[in-house]
Amino acid sequence: MEGSKGVLERLKKNSILATDIASQFWCELQMELNYIHGREFNKAMAGGSKVHKELQMEVATVIDVEPQNYADFLFKEAYENYLSLKSLNEKGIGREIKVYGSLNGYKFAGKIDELNVRDGKVVIVETKTKALNGKLFEKNEGVKEISDATMRTHKIQIMLYRKMLGDLQSKEYTYKNFYNSYAISKMVLSDKFIAQLELIGIDRNLRNFDTIYSMGYEQIYKMAPISDTLVISYVDRNTGNEFASVSVDYNKESFDKILVDAMAYWTGQREARPVVKEEAWKCNFCKFYGKECKVWWAK
Ligand code: SF4
Repeated sequence: MEGSKGVLERLKKNSILATDIASQFWCELQMELNYIHGREFNKAMAGGSKVHKELQMEVATVIDVEPQNYADFLFKEAYENYLSLKSLNEKGIGREIKVYGSLNGYKFAGKIDELNVRDGKVVIVETKTKALNGKLFEKNEGVKEISDATMRTHKIQIMLYRKMLGDLQSKEYTYKNFYNSYAISKMVLSDKFIAQLELIGIDRNLRNFDTIYSMGYEQIYKMAPISDTLVISYVDRNTGNEFASVSVDYNKESFDKILVDAMAYWTGQREARPVVKEEAWKCNFCKFYGKECKVWWAK
């Protein structure tokens, strides 16, 4: 059994991502092996990120600058987050919002696809893409295209976002927590990046972390209460059209219980689990099957 730092160190990770925890609910062992042996960036992932980029551009919250180091990257992200949250509060919609938090003392991060205001509440929307290859569906008929096992991972992911956003709004996790765990005081923007900020007209007074983060957190504190009804939107990767929409009810207590078991892996209390026998069909889609993983290998 590993020490509490062991798992992240072994996987060469700095923080746990919401997508890591969602992947645990597909196959925890596969998630681990992906970190050890490297994940392939495939065509489906490229198509998905193109759809997300286009959605973000629709609400104009991307700034055209090229980070030269990690500090620049964090600043660009913080500035875009501020613009997205401001857009949420002023226009009722914000996209691609990076959220940070803490789980059992571990750094935890994720990116929310969309927040929008409906009936006076902020609704979290997660967009998932799938190639329908020309198939057409009446609204929500296409939900049959998504298997229960796949949808389960999507539900976990969106519930994590609900939890993180709730922690931010209730000040359970504040700028101070973030500042300390990411050592923001040591971050220095590169000269090249500062020159780019100047070029696109970002005021000198805004070019520091304290200001830009406090502006972002202010937007979180003034946004409407967060809805416990979460929405997963399924979009055809080729056309960008939504073919199904699924509502998910969030219950903090039952979700916290689900997380206890998931976190037992990260805290080193147990090894990564393979899929259960009833779900061994998943192995047919796994690149580690019969190679790094022979749990259900019968040949
Ligand atoms: S082969 Fe099966 S059990 Fe092994 S990592 Fe892949 S999905 Fe998991």
